[in-house]
Amino acid sequence: MPGVYRLKECPVCGVEHRRRGLHCSRSCGQKARVLTDDHKRKIADSNREHMASDSPSAEKSKWIITQQKKGQGKTEQQLEQEMDGWSIVPPHGLDRQYEKDSDGDIWFS
Ligand SMILES: [Zn+2]
Repeated sequence: MPGVYRLKECPVCGVEHRRRGLHCSRSCGQKARVLTDDHKRKIADSNREHMASDSPSAEKSKWIITQQKKGQGKTEQQLEQEMDGWSIVPPHGLDRQYEKDSDGDIWFS
């Protein structure tokens, strides 16, 4: 039948539903997103790898995170600790300067 999703069972609460996606409701979808420690570690590893790379998206993420964090008046040590918790490797020191060029690319100096 067009426009109707097949009947499926919500993996969180077991209710049968025809909603889009796996879960019967937003709250079940969010429960399903609670990660195991092992899964978290895998995500952390791939984040670390990504953030240590020179890819433009990694540079941008680092820039954004750094700027956001700077705005909260925390010390570099506090920031590094927090970033550790976030599994993000900060660029060499938080005092590095960042510039956006006319193309919107971010450059570290
Ligand atoms: Zn459910």
